[in-house]
Amino acid sequence: MKVTADLKKEKDLWADQADLAQRVDCIDCFHKGGGFLRVRMFLCPICGHKRCPKATNHRLKCTGSNEPGQKGSMYE
Ligand SMILES: [Zn+2]
Ligand SMILES: [Zn+2]
Repeated sequence: MKVTADLKKEKDLWADQADLAQRVDCIDCFHKGGGFLRVRMFLCPICGHKRCPKATNHRLKCTGSNEPGQKGSMYE
């Protein structure tokens, strides 16, 4: 029974995190809203690249690039 309860809790947690992820536009907002699980991939709303700094923080400027190691991006 304990395993079932834990699974239920974990499912609720994932549902909460997924719901939060739907409501925010970037990783920064997700973390500030209490998100910590990687329930979805955040992409820049303008260029659609995950390594664009805007995907990490909407206050950063869209570079239109998916190059690794961009300033402000949490992706390498
Ligand atoms: Zn944001
Ligand atoms: Zn972009």
